Amino acid sequence: MYDYIASGIYASQLKQGQDALGSDLGSTNAQLRSLTDLVRKMALVNQALLELMKEKTGLSDEELRLKVREVDLRDGYEDGKLTAGPVVCPKCGFNVTAGSLSCQTCGAKIAPKYPYES
Ligand SMILES: [Zn+2]
Repeated sequence: MYDYIASGIYASQLKQGQDALGSDLGSTNAQLRSLTDLVRKMALVNQALLELMKEKTGLSDEELRLKVREVDLRDGYEDGKLTAGPVVCPKCGFNVTAGSLSCQTCGAKIAPKYPYES
């Protein structure tokens, strides 16, 4: 009898765990779809901007490739990613964590490193 009840409780707990896991996976999948859509939108806008720049200025693919490499190397790594490194506080000189809006030591406001960070 005890085993029967215990197995019922176990089955119920297992079902609750599976439901929670399914809910978490559903949420994660929705976030992934949202991020994928955002990346595709950014790629579309970047492509449109590139084509405009080429049409208006005569910018070559080689010039773009060199600029991408230069910007990529600003953080010291050629990894194909734009990674914000630490920012030095203009007031106290503390190395502020990337992405912070204010200095962790003195509270000074930190200007974003790139326009899209605001
Ligand atoms: Zn500071």
